[in-house]
Amino acid sequence: MTIDVHDFEDIREEVPKLCAAFPGEYWRKLDREAAYPGDFVKALGDAGYLAALIPAEYGGSGLPLSGAAAILEEIQRAGCNGGACHAQMYIMGALLRHGNEAQKQRFLPKIAAGDLRLQAFGVTEPTSGTDTSSIKTTAVRRGDRYVVNGQKIWTSRAEHSDLMMLLARTTPKERVAKRTDGLSIFLLDMQAARSAGLSIRPIRTMMNHATTEVFFDNVEIPAENLVGKGFRYVLSGMNAERILIAAECLGDAKWFIDKAAAYGKERVVFGRPIGQNQGIQFPIARAYAQMRAAELMVHQAAGLFENGKDCGAEANMAKMLAADASWAAAEACVQTHGGFGFAEEYDVERKFRETRLYQVAPISTNLILSYLAEHVLGMPRSY
Ligand SMILES: Cc1cc2nc3c(=O)[nH]c(=O)nc-3n(C[C@H](O)[C@H](O)[C@H](O)COP(=O)(O)OP(=O)(O)OC[C@H]3O[C@@H](n4cnc5c(N)ncnc54)[C@H](O)[C@@H]3O)c2cc1C
Repeated sequence: MTIDVHDFEDIREEVPKLCAAFPGEYWRKLDREAAYPGDFVKALGDAGYLAALIPAEYGGSGLPLSGAAAILEEIQRAGCNGGACHAQMYIMGALLRHGNEAQKQRFLPKIAAGDLRLQAFGVTEPTSGTDTSSIKTTAVRRGDRYVVNGQKIWTSRAEHSDLMMLLARTTPKERVAKRTDGLSIFLLDMQAARSAGLSIRPIRTMMNHATTEVFFDNVEIPAENLVGKGFRYVLSGMNAERILIAAECLGDAKWFIDKAAAYGKERVVFGRPIGQNQGIQFPIARAYAQMRAAELMVHQAAGLFENGKDCGAEANMAKMLAADASWAAAEACVQTHGGFGFAEEYDVERKFRETRLYQVAPISTNLILSYLAEHVLGMPRSY
């Protein structure tokens, strides 16, 4: 059931070739201008990578989750940033597993052909934060439509997406037995909504992530765009998201480790390579061991997911361990580079800022530990 690290050799060979056309200078310029890597995303789309999870009958390549994970890992490992488009892969899961046939026929071929971008996932809200069941955005049924009011925050890529997978409350929290009941997910046509009540405001962040605030003022969604009612729809999408983000963290960790080890061998101070000092070697070696352990968990989580098994604990652990490994590797890489770690042209400081996000999003480390304590170890719920 566990996926082997050598699987998807073709992906691991081809993705780096595509990424080679988008070197550090490309990302540095975008970073300075807070601009979206449209060319990079287009190249990935043209090569079919963004349709990896779409079944062949709808025009995609029908890869399992671990295939998408390999693509994202290789993107990060090559020094690029999959954050510009990774959502298309993890949002897809909810549509594939829970969407009805009419929805799949309507959306999937266009997404596979690159005519529609499904890049925005609207879950987080300013007042609810991690407590997803407390979201305040409502979708009220009126005839053959739902009318949406409320606000999302940190909705990444909203300005670069045609569709948003939106989480909204369809039954008030006071009227449901369990607080996670009464939540629904919809596919929102953002282009149509932008002239009918939807507004988007970019948020500048520590790294270049095209993230935004989104406001809904009586935005209408046709009832046929309801993908599913219930928290399980959200959760199954979140496990895919965690596994794919974990794969990205593995790629980041490998990039930092390779970069640090190479620099350690080449930089000479006191008449010998700095990498000859154990003080330089050990943090890099430790990060390598952390990365390899995390890799096993990522592959196990993906294997469980693909076999339709419960993978909540493994997906969470994979995300936490891989994010910790990439952060340890990032820290070791900056330290190995000394002052040069802070210079833009080495890309280390950019990747350092980018990988820091994964300690917080899409789920923070504290909440993963709480999940394990409660759901795996049977300890009392802490919140
Ligand atoms: C750049 C970026 C991109 C993002 N993209 C998206 C996106 O596309 N779509 C989307 O829906 N969301 C997105 N997010 C939101 C992200 O998922 C949230 O920021 C994250 O889930 C944490 O929520 P919060 O920021 O509201 O923090 P809070 O919930 O306010 O938490 C703040 C801190 O308190 C801790 N904390 C809270 N409760 C507990 C507790 N019970 N026990 C212990 N510690 C606790 C948290 O771990 C965290 O460290 C993005 C965020 C960022 C920064």
